[in-house]
Amino acid sequence: MVQKRLARIINQKCHFKCEDCEKTKLAKMYEYRNISFVRGFTPHHYKQLCGDCIYKKVYGTKFYKKKKKEGALDGKVQHL
Ligand SMILES: [Zn+2]
Repeated sequence: MVQKRLARIINQKCHFKCEDCEKTKLAKMYEYRNISFVRGFTPHHYKQLCGDCIYKKVYGTKFYKKKKKEGALDGKVQHL
């Protein structure tokens, strides 16, 4: 099974409601999608995620704080 993830920053600062934690924030907004090649399975495509949620999804709850501090997903398109 081939799987890829897309995780990128959409907006440096905007007002939006996070699709995962459902909090309304004025913050950086991210897009996140698991790209799957499994037939008949379409992963959810998040178009509005807050920093906490996307970093947790990409790096896991153990490492996300460090990565968020580094801004690992901020600035360019990431193909993981
Ligand atoms: Zn969130």
